[in-house]
Amino acid sequence: MLEGKVALVTGASRGIGRAIAIVLAEAGADVVVNYAGSEQAAEEVVRHIEGLGRRSFKVKADVASAAEVDEMVKQTLDRFGKIDIMVNNAGITRDNLIMRMKEDEFDQVIATNLKGVFNCIKAVTRPMMKQRSGKIINISSVVGVLGNAGQANYVAAKAGVIGLTKSAARELASRNIAVNAVAPGFIETDMTDKLTAETREQMLQQIPFARLGQPEDIARVVRFLASDDSSYMTGQTIHVDGGMYM
Ligand code: NAD
Repeated sequence: MLEGKVALVTGASRGIGRAIAIVLAEAGADVVVNYAGSEQAAEEVVRHIEGLGRRSFKVKADVASAAEVDEMVKQTLDRFGKIDIMVNNAGITRDNLIMRMKEDEFDQVIATNLKGVFNCIKAVTRPMMKQRSGKIINISSVVGVLGNAGQANYVAAKAGVIGLTKSAARELASRNIAVNAVAPGFIETDMTDKLTAETREQMLQQIPFARLGQPEDIARVVRFLASDDSSYMTGQTIHVDGGMYM
């Protein structure tokens, strides 16, 4: 499905990003693993991908920094010669009620979850335009359309990602670059591990399938958007949330 393609996945050392990196490699892509936290975890993902017979290396970069993102894309081009698939997955939460939310809690989440996506789209635009092809996939969230008490910063960023996806799709379509988003519901990762049993129970009541999703549920939809099977799609947000938003 993705034989000969080069993919770059942000926040790929764990959770949904790790699953995306591995599923893309299983489909035949060479994968660059971006990370910001544990180097060891990133190295483990690289080894796993190499074990599948694909090329991989890790790059430490904070997506909120345009300079670090540019350097990461440069390294990808230097080592693998091109970039076919950019998956903007890195994200953080700093939850608080609006009345208690500190300015830096708001700023950090917008910087990573929204500006980070912009930085990565901008950095791959030129090489993808030259190639006259590319697939950009942004990870939003179901709360970006539903809203969520205690997550005004995160929701604003994730709603922003949906708008950014549409604008980039319109700008880049003439160069055969597709830009789509995936909006996960509640997925079992470190991000949802922190939840109390009570919150978890409340969540389950909102999910028609009555279970949390797995990182692979998201990764398989990303694989579809990265492949030619989605060749007539751009500017879309696919909800992968057990039916929460319909
Ligand atoms: P996670 O916390 O397990 O993983 C997030 C990854 O992003 C980590 O590897 C982290 O190191 C990396 N990261 C954080 N800040 C970064 C930065 N500045 N630069 C580079 N990398 C950075 O979370 P996850 O659940 O795997 O989430 C992945 C994406 O999916 C996020 O964008 C998140 O908002 C989104 N999402 C998750 C859920 C869920 O229920 N887990 C639901 C909807 C959307």
